[in-house]
Amino acid sequence: MLRIEGLTAEVEGKEILKGIDLEVPKGEVHAIMGPNGSGKSTLSYVLAGREGYDVTGGSATFNGVDILAMEPEERAASGLFLAFQYPVELPGVGNATFLRTALNALRRAKGEGELDAMQFLKVARERMRALSMPEDMLKRGVNVGFSGGEKKRNEILQMALLQPSLAILDETDSGLDIDALKIVADGVNAMRGPDFSALVITHYQRLLDYIVPDRVHVLINGRIVKSGGPDLAKELEAQGYGAIQAAA
Ligand code: ADP
Ligand code: MG
Ligand code: MG
Repeated sequence: MLRIEGLTAEVEGKEILKGIDLEVPKGEVHAIMGPNGSGKSTLSYVLAGREGYDVTGGSATFNGVDILAMEPEERAASGLFLAFQYPVELPGVGNATFLRTALNALRRAKGEGELDAMQFLKVARERMRALSMPEDMLKRGVNVGFSGGEKKRNEILQMALLQPSLAILDETDSGLDIDALKIVADGVNAMRGPDFSALVITHYQRLLDYIVPDRVHVLINGRIVKSGGPDLAKELEAQGYGAIQAAA
């Protein structure tokens, strides 16, 4: 499970996370919601180990292991998937090559044998069929000329291939249409099971119509100010963050 305790972090000397406490048990999908600028992306970047995001206190462990002390590659090898840690565009790199490289790096780290091109294609096609994805996505350059929805598809395909035990998805893109939201939701829902947990970070309640979370947490001004069941997302949709913000 993921356990975050008293996590504080700053960006460019400014404190953004002001003491985050959060537990995502094994097998559960939790959502973090919050207004713009509340620190949602900062939390996901801190967990991903992105440069420039400095942890100043507290801890984050995954199955008891300190995530924050790990190199980003080690985080992946330990079963963490952070969608945004992958490059946005890689002109000249075929998507199949890119995905196979990512999968083989993970397999090496786990002491498993690497897949050759044929073996990889077989696995990739299986996963793509399960997600109703068109096969030509494998032939294109990584994300080059992909629409927002196609980038999402590719992200979800990466997740389906890497089979993480914990996925952290930061849905930052306000321009995502319903189709793209459904791609994300289908991908997460397909992974759901006793050995998979997810933290879905979103500004919008809409995504949670498709991914019904076990728990919802509201992040405001660098702190989780309220947690509840899936109905909390609906409440927020109806009332906005104002009421919670005023009470917090
Ligand atoms: P959210 O994802 O909830 O919209 P962010 O984590 O992106 O919020 O931002 C939280 C706060 O941190 C904002 O006040 C934002 O201006 C600030 N911030 C985030 N990233 C940076 C950065 N790279 N440099 C300076 N300030 C940043
Ligand atoms: Mg934002
Ligand atoms: Mg954000």
